[in-house]
This record gives sequence, C-alpha cells and structure tokens, in this order.
Amino acid sequence: MSQISQSHLLPVFARTDLAFERGEGVWLYGIDGERYLDFTSGVAVNALGHAHPHLVSAIQAQAAKLIHMSNLFKSPDGERVAARLCEASFADQVFFANSGAEAMECAIKITRKYHAAKGRPDRYRIITFEGAFHGRTLATLAAGGQEKYLEGFGPRVEGFDQVPLGDLEATKKAIGPQTAGILIEPLQGEGGVREPSHAFFRALRQLCDDNDLLLVFDEVQTGMGRTGELFAHQRIGVKPDVMALAKALGGGFPIGACLATKDAAFGMTAGTHGSTFGGNPLAIAAASAVLDLMLEPKFMEHVRRASLLLKQKLASVVDRYPDLLTEVRGEGLLIGLKAVIPSPDLIAALRDEKLLTVGAGENVVRLLPPLIVSEAEIEEGVSRIEKACAKLSALHARKKAV
Ligand SMILES: *Cc1c(COP(=O)(O)O)cnc(C)c1O
Repeated sequence: MSQISQSHLLPVFARTDLAFERGEGVWLYGIDGERYLDFTSGVAVNALGHAHPHLVSAIQAQAAKLIHMSNLFKSPDGERVAARLCEASFADQVFFANSGAEAMECAIKITRKYHAAKGRPDRYRIITFEGAFHGRTLATLAAGGQEKYLEGFGPRVEGFDQVPLGDLEATKKAIGPQTAGILIEPLQGEGGVREPSHAFFRALRQLCDDNDLLLVFDEVQTGMGRTGELFAHQRIGVKPDVMALAKALGGGFPIGACLATKDAAFGMTAGTHGSTFGGNPLAIAAASAVLDLMLEPKFMEHVRRASLLLKQKLASVVDRYPDLLTEVRGEGLLIGLKAVIPSPDLIAALRDEKLLTVGAGENVVRLLPPLIVSEAEIEEGVSRIEKACAKLSALHARKKAV
C-alpha cells in the first residue's frame, strides 16, 4: 500500500490501514486490489449501498442545476422533502442541518425554547441516559455525558441530567422544576446496541405528558429504515415531540434534519436558528432520492426479511462459538454481536475475511449492512463471520493448551 510519510490530518481518528477507491452495492474495492463486503455502511449512512444509480443520477442532475442556495430564498424542493418527512411521521415542521450533531443541537434548542416562549425560561434542563451518544459538539457531548469525550474541553454545557438507561424511578426522580424534556435514542447504537423495553418508552411518553415536557428522540442512527421501519419509534409505538435524523437521510450525502410538532416548535420564529448549508439543493436532492426508494412499501419489507435471516444465522453462530460470542442484539439491520474476546480482535479477524464491521460500547461488534443487502449477501457475510470464528476459536484452544 502506498504510504504517505507524514499525515496532515488531525489525528483524532484511529484509522484502520485500509483505503478504498470505489464501491458498488454492498461491495467496496480497496486500493490493495481486494474486494470487501461492507457491513459498516459508513456507520449506518450508505443505506442504499455504494453508487446506487438513482441516488447518483439525482445528485448529478442537481449538481448541474444548483448546488447551493442560501436560506435567504425559498426552497421548493426543501418544502417537498419536508412535506414527505412530515407525512411519514408525527411531525409538522422540519429544520434541515448538515449532520447528526447539528440536528441534535436544533432539537435541544427547540426543547429549551418551547418553555422559554411559554414564559418559563428557567425550564431548560434535559434528562438523558447513560451510554447515550448524541454527537461531538459541546452541547451534544454534554448531553451524551461520556467522560472520556468531555475531558479537557473546559466547562461542560450546563443543563443535562443523566440517569441509567431504562431506570424509570431514576427518571422520575430527576424531573425537577427546571426540567424541559427527556432525550433518548430508541436504540443506542454507539452505546452497544442497547434497547430499553417498549414499556419504558411508553412510561417516558406518559411522564412527558403529565409534566409538560418534550420527548425528544435521537434517531440519527436508527432513523431512515435502519431498524426495519422508516423510524425506530414506529416499531415501539411511541411518538416523540421532536426527532433528530441524519446518517442515512442523504444516502451518503451529508444532511441532517430536526423534525417537530407545531406545538413543540412554536417558539422557533424567524431568526431563532439557522444554517448556511442546511438543506441546500444538492443535499435535498440526495434526501429526495433516498425517500423515493424508502417510501416504497417493499423497501422496509426487504429490510425486515434481511434482518430475520441475519439474526437467525447469527444466533446459530453464537451457539456454536460460546468461547467467542455471547449474544445477538438489535433490530432491523442495526445488529450487535456481543463478544467474549476483546471486540477489536473480532473486528480484525472479520477484516481478514474481507468483511468490514464497526465497534460499539459494551464490547459489541456492530453489523450495519446497506439496507439493500440481498439474502445471498447476508449469507456470504455470515459465512465470513463463521470462518473468522473458526480460526479464532482454534487459536484460543491452542493458547489454552500451551
Ligand atoms: C452518529 C450519531 C450522532 C452524530 O452525528 P454526526 O453526523 O456525526 O454529527 C448523533 N446521535 C446518534 C444517535 C448518532 O448515532
């Protein structure tokens, strides 16, 4: 592999020594001449796989017309995408941003402004949950509450109270006169593919209704079909007041969105929020192309079928290798394999089989295939996992024997 002697990229990522030149569907072609099965989807982003013809042609056609327009002017295409998102969800209004963290910032601002606009600016605190991940801006880091990410960046943004995931009593206790809302991921991705019970979500909805709090869902990772519904909360059967989307919304083109009911967002008047790039024509064209495919009923049926197959096949691998794996977790095509051995060792062994996966908290390996993955490709992926497990298991047996 060609080696650049000195990197000028800020070394904040622990990058694997692999690079790719092109992709097609679920396959990636490395500059090493190898072909890899991509079960990362750019961390739940490339929902349509790589180089999907509908997405590519939508972006190409839009690029030749208008790439960027400011929000000084009307956005007819933005209106249409917003209307489609609202029609498919609980929401009445959409703010377009460029990333998950920015969509979350808007969600936090809406939550605070809701109370301020009702004449109670002292209600600004938001309850969040342990293991959460909401982004890397200063406010979203404070919301996520992970010490390792907050360390060294000065005083943390005030106003977040964290409680253990799924602990209803702790949540009730955390509600005080300054509480504005509750923020939660329907299924924690980075945190280790962890999902509280549906009853917990119903109880949160009730708590919010009883106390005039906003319920905010961070669906940056779970949204846009990842769990087999357009939005993960549709599977749970609990509606939020505010929701953040990003990752798969543009199928790989950066775009985020914050959706809200009209009531929740009523304080957000002209000038209260903004973005230079947010919802620009190229990003909107990408999101529109993604929606064209995802709003076809057969799209989610396919995700659910692929999910069932993947989970069944993985369960049998877990049964056969209890020395390496303990559990299959998750929904749709956001699947976690909880490892007994250090998860980076498993990820490396899978990479040796030319299968790309993503780490997560709690020693979990995330499998995030593009949502267009075929059943044959799921079977190919699992067979690579089996091969890696067979080799790892033999290696461990040898180590034990020594
Ligand atoms: C990825 C992610 C974010 C942050 O998105 P960025 O686009 O990286 O800013 C926020 N919340 C969740 C749940 C995520 O998975």
